[in-house]
Amino acid sequence: MNKKTKILVCDDEKSIRSVLKVILESEGYEVIIASTGREAVEIFKKDPPSLILLDVSMPGMTGFEVMDNIKEYFGENYIPILFLTASIKIDDKLRALHRGAVDYLVKPVSPKELILRIQNFLEIKAKHDELKKEATFDWMTGALNRAHFIRQAREELDKALRNNFSVAIILLDIDNFKEINDTKGHAAGDRVIREFADRIKKLIRKIDLFGRFGGDEFIIMLSHKTEEEAKSVSERLLSMLSKPIVFEKEKIRATASIGISQKEVGSAPSDLEKLTQLADQGLYAAKSKGGNTYIVKS
Ligand code: GH3
Ligand code: MG
Repeated sequence: MNKKTKILVCDDEKSIRSVLKVILESEGYEVIIASTGREAVEIFKKDPPSLILLDVSMPGMTGFEVMDNIKEYFGENYIPILFLTASIKIDDKLRALHRGAVDYLVKPVSPKELILRIQNFLEIKAKHDELKKEATFDWMTGALNRAHFIRQAREELDKALRNNFSVAIILLDIDNFKEINDTKGHAAGDRVIREFADRIKKLIRKIDLFGRFGGDEFIIMLSHKTEEEAKSVSERLLSMLSKPIVFEKEKIRATASIGISQKEVGSAPSDLEKLTQLADQGLYAAKSKGGNTYIVKS
């Protein structure tokens, strides 16, 4: 089992915490200990573990309350919660399962059984995480795939409208890409796509969204950026992307064209489709001018 798998143990009883720590660490897990519910919530918010072992009755915040508190931070993550409790009350068990706990174990639990159950749930988690990654990212470039870009960009645009900040959309398409495929081969084309994605990732910030929109087309959403700043980012992108790419000892030169659209602070609500359409018109205009340039449409 992966040594770095983190398990959060929350129990108000010191002896139980110590025993669980020894059992789990001997299996190679990293164990994080919380002695109160509040502590568990704080630890969870800072650095979510892969799995949680949770006591039910604790002074202050109960296990149920911990679960209610942390669930809103789960997002799309699958983090199995196993209750480990002295309570044999069927009501407690039903409450735990109803809230989404994956298991409810009554102390004392055989260490072997506990480990096997943990392993089973971590296996499900690993499969879930892998499928989620495949469903979210474009495997070739690591950029968001089109569906996930749209989903996340919509959320970000909603936030921008609510909190009144600006966002820019940059739509970017490689110039004469088909020619690279035709003259240098498909593998060279792939290399150019990957290299472009890597260079774009290096230039944008963590908070910006970056997706592969289609074959040789990328899309970026810059948050809190004015039109002038989006232009400056585009200029830097064009300059960085035009640097030669080495493929099998040969230098390949490629450029891109960019269309920009913008939602300024205080501007009328616009939706993502409208912004993308405008950026697409900008991109079309940039191609018409011979490529390797950007055009803003507003
Ligand atoms: P323009 O300058 O107008 O953008 O022309 P273009 O040749 O770049 O664009 P076009 O849309 O005609 O061609 C894009 C090509 O990209 C067509 C498609 O076969 C190729 N393509 C799409 N996905 C991939 C990929 O993953 N790898 C490779 N090597 N080629 C791809
Ligand atoms: Mg192209």
